[in-house]
Amino acid sequence: MDKKDYEEAVKFYRSLAGKEIENEKILNGTFIGPRSKVKEDKLEISDIINPSRPFLSKDVGEQSDSAYASTFRLGHFNMPEQLASTGQGTSFVGGMEFGTKLVKQKIIKSLDDLITFLADYKIGIVDIFGEKEEKEEKTMDIRVYECIECADLPNVGKPICFFEAGVITGVFTELTKKDVTAKELRCWTSGYSFCQFDVKIKDQKK
Ligand SMILES: [Zn+2]
Repeated sequence: MDKKDYEEAVKFYRSLAGKEIENEKILNGTFIGPRSKVKEDKLEISDIINPSRPFLSKDVGEQSDSAYASTFRLGHFNMPEQLASTGQGTSFVGGMEFGTKLVKQKIIKSLDDLITFLADYKIGIVDIFGEKEEKEEKTMDIRVYECIECADLPNVGKPICFFEAGVITGVFTELTKKDVTAKELRCWTSGYSFCQFDVKIKDQKK
């Protein structure tokens, strides 16, 4: 993804996200976006395949990108359904180990590398939306657009990108050598058109 497309994508999704956050509600402590189609139950295969990702598909064409993202998602079916509902921890830890390895094996050496890597492999478009430092803790608002895991999925009332949260945790832990937590606050599956991770970084307790 070239710089111009990246900047265009960030501008487009920031504006969309702003509108969606204005129209959100909070249900049992969870942010719920304005996307109305709520499925209480599990996702069907037809919900999962053929997402549309206008920016990540630019260089390869809509159809190829959609098939690529579908194939990635169909890979989840190697886990029994029973496990899938309790497998969130597994997904998170898997992502964390993967993120840690990306840094240890010097594939990712900086935040910019993380953005490039995730865009190159079409996992998502990372936007460092905000950061602030308070007492000994740094908080970052990291958004992911056109996420390979959840883009275009229906609103099921809760976020589902545990793998991505794990990758972010692993990469930041290894880059900073500090205690890092990443929690997904908003997601396609909670009614938005983006994912948002609340990342907290603090000094390790001695
Ligand atoms: Zn998500």
